[in-house]
Amino acid sequence: MIKNKYVKKFFLLALMLLFGYTSAQKKFTLVLDAGHGGSDHGAIRSYADLGTIAEKDITLSIILKLGRMLEKTKDYKVIYTRKVDEFPSLTERTTLANRSKADLFISVHCNANTKTTAYGTETFVQGPDQNKTNLEVAKAENDVIFLDATDRENFASYDPRSPESLIALKIQQSRYLESSLLFGSFVEDNFSNKDHRFSRGVKQQNLHVLRMNAMPSVLIETGFISNYDESKYLNSEKGQEEVATSIYNAILKYKKLVDRNARPAEPEKPAEAPLKNDFRVLLMALPSKYAPTDPVLKGLNNITIIKENGQYKYYYGVTNYATIRDANLKTAKDAGFRNAMAVGFMPNQKLGSGYYTIEVVVSRDKLSSNSYVLQTLKDVERNKENGVYYYTYGNVKSLEEAIILQKELEAKGIKNTVIQKVAR
Ligand SMILES: [Zn+2]
Repeated sequence: MIKNKYVKKFFLLALMLLFGYTSAQKKFTLVLDAGHGGSDHGAIRSYADLGTIAEKDITLSIILKLGRMLEKTKDYKVIYTRKVDEFPSLTERTTLANRSKADLFISVHCNANTKTTAYGTETFVQGPDQNKTNLEVAKAENDVIFLDATDRENFASYDPRSPESLIALKIQQSRYLESSLLFGSFVEDNFSNKDHRFSRGVKQQNLHVLRMNAMPSVLIETGFISNYDESKYLNSEKGQEEVATSIYNAILKYKKLVDRNARPAEPEKPAEAPLKNDFRVLLMALPSKYAPTDPVLKGLNNITIIKENGQYKYYYGVTNYATIRDANLKTAKDAGFRNAMAVGFMPNQKLGSGYYTIEVVVSRDKLSSNSYVLQTLKDVERNKENGVYYYTYGNVKSLEEAIILQKELEAKGIKNTVIQKVAR
């Protein structure tokens, strides 16, 4: 719950900046995520008079009620991660959300505690852990990852002990934090003011289901199943209706703000003289390869990856206009790449020594001679380093030629390649 007026004003300002450049008049798209499902019950308790109460059933009922309220008007497009008792993987949930370019992601859950006295609602947004007592929630909600093999693979690189998590941590300070906090405060305010529930507030927490989302996202803990009174409330028609209505009203309020702050695109400015150099924004450099569409790149498009000295350098955008360069840099920083910087490239510069090539495949296994890549391309070079095979193709002198070559490969169906600069 965020009561402080000053804080709210700050969020409003952040929201205005955030939506200042997007145009309105598009359906407001929501992804509704009923927590858990299928073999994953979530929190579960049995009571003599209520029977067995499972989190997965409560979350689904609330989500379906909320969805019906939203679908009554034409203003909303509602996408469900599940509408029945099944278990979509966390990867499926976040991929679905990102692909749909949703405006808001809402995951509904129920809490549980070993102490039956714990009660109240709380809403989590993605952010660095602020508070050790939230750790238990993170553990319970993150545990489900290990139910699914694909998730284990996809989230492996997000091991909090790995050096890459430092990058992930920076990305969490994303541009969606303020909007998520704002929406979360609307939800908690409604729970406490309209439904007279006890609100434990809006908290920042590192939750996998929220981390990969490229949109404002919240995880709502609608109450404690381990508390008899709340369990009874959450299991009742009245309770579920109230919870759904409170979330629904928070959505209306949030959308109103977004609409009010959405302005039409700025009129064209007088012609600006181009610069001598092209500028790309360097987002990060690391030894791991990600596809340009990987959520780690936070939905930024127009990504160029250039491998140099064993490091993959991820660049965003290209322009020879100062205003666009500065805007691109701001976009990158707002997306969470705090150390992003604009790097100048002299156009069509031919390398004096060395060359550019295209890294087409990186694999632990040797490609078979009848693989598509080796069948399609002649003179593919193979290098083995630390047990990994690197296949490269082509030899050109300028970055522009390398980009053209990469596009030609893409047209042949050889995708997710990387431009490699080889020094001699
Ligand atoms: Zn849960």
